[in-house]
Amino acid sequence: MKLYNTLTHSIEEFLPNTPETVKMYTCGPTVYHFAHIGNLRTYISEDILEKSLKYVGYYVTRAMNITDVGHLTSDSDSGTDKMVDSAIKEHKSVLEIAEYYTKAFFDDCEKLNIRKPDIVSKATDNIDFYIKIIENLLEKGYAYASNGNIYFDITKVDDYYRLTNHKIDEMVVGVRDGVEEDAGKRNQGDFVLWFTKSKFQDQELKWESPFGVGYPGWHIECTGISIKYLGEYLDIHCGGVDNIFPHHTNEIAQSESYLGHKWCNYWFHGEHLNLKDTKMSKSKGNIITVSTLIEEGYNPLSYRFMCLMSHYRKILEFSFDSLNSSQNAYLKLLNRISMISSQGEFQDAAFKDYNEKFMDSLKDDLNTANAITVLYDVIKDDSLTGKTKLELIRSFDKVFSLDLISEKHDAIHPQHEEIMSLIEKRAELKKEHRFTEADGIRDELASRGIELVDTREGTIYKIKEMGDIK
Ligand code: AMP
Ligand code: ZN
Repeated sequence: MKLYNTLTHSIEEFLPNTPETVKMYTCGPTVYHFAHIGNLRTYISEDILEKSLKYVGYYVTRAMNITDVGHLTSDSDSGTDKMVDSAIKEHKSVLEIAEYYTKAFFDDCEKLNIRKPDIVSKATDNIDFYIKIIENLLEKGYAYASNGNIYFDITKVDDYYRLTNHKIDEMVVGVRDGVEEDAGKRNQGDFVLWFTKSKFQDQELKWESPFGVGYPGWHIECTGISIKYLGEYLDIHCGGVDNIFPHHTNEIAQSESYLGHKWCNYWFHGEHLNLKDTKMSKSKGNIITVSTLIEEGYNPLSYRFMCLMSHYRKILEFSFDSLNSSQNAYLKLLNRISMISSQGEFQDAAFKDYNEKFMDSLKDDLNTANAITVLYDVIKDDSLTGKTKLELIRSFDKVFSLDLISEKHDAIHPQHEEIMSLIEKRAELKKEHRFTEADGIRDELASRGIELVDTREGTIYKIKEMGDIK
């Protein structure tokens, strides 16, 4: 398996510490709001990574945190806690907010066929362990107390900026965020391990500690949860590209200072999903959620399909127009598969041959678009029996997780192609202002139990009798 490693800035052969077993850590959601489809793109990429590793033969144990404390509105340790802000806005307690949005997150993951990691741990469930790590960092001189907070001194580690490819002065957090320098810090790039002072009066959740009553910083949560549940040697750590700095940079600094040795060999980062030229962000409020997709008449798996058609390290520009094309392509694909009947002998050699090609695509830094091409090649290959085709598709779907073969196929109309061409014809008629004829097509389809839904960027159909296409 070849993967791009952010740590070495190159594509490398992936070699875990122990042959055949992989310890994988994923930065989980900050549960102050619904996850947007950008966040979920990252979780889809990580899901594909986990399933690909398993597909090529590894035994994977994966852990993820749920950030329910300590993630401030600015990366530079200033601002307020996102959870507290949300609780005030929604007139709920922080724990109620966390519980509500954690459930919403996993519901969304389920709709996108994203597997829940083996270990999921809330940041607030591991406070004692963070305290232990911080005490150790203080003893060894990596951390210091100042102005009520405990800070990590970034000058105490070699090559603090190794994960980024940037010049040091561009990366110093305070400079980048354009915020006032924290007078308590020895160096502008130092970060908080434990807060007691900063915005303390608003903080609903706080814990006793040897450093005073307070709460942990965001970065220490991932270090703590990863080491506690996956041990001292991590094989691969994942997140979105925005996590590279400062979050993952800080995780490396504090984890390796605590452990006294190298911690994680491979760093996997998913590129962002953008809306035109802007990054989708929960704090900016320009978000599209899985519920938005469903409300607009889309099958969430069309979005998963769209993500798989692009490479995880390339920015993906989102528009309803492109989602519409993805949905049409996805439904067409399901329709073609539903027409394959399980006939003939199972062809062992052909199965192995195609399976090899499929694995080669995954091993090529998760080239999912190529893997989908292999799927289309299987469907098109007249020398394959129906039985072999279906076995291959079923097997590939362990990674794709697109419900390619499932009962949900009943929801795909057998006359899909015809319906799609009627939809196109109706759109043309509407363009020509021939509305009566256009309505005629809609009514004719309605009489067959097919409801047309005009979404922002085009029309899709739902099957009334069998329930909506999910
Ligand atoms: P958060 O809930 O803000 O902590 O973010 C959860 C995950 O989503 C992190 O791994 C982020 O790196 C990732 N993320 C944030 N914004 C985007 C985006 N626009 N596209 C893809 N991933 C994102
Ligand atoms: Zn993290």
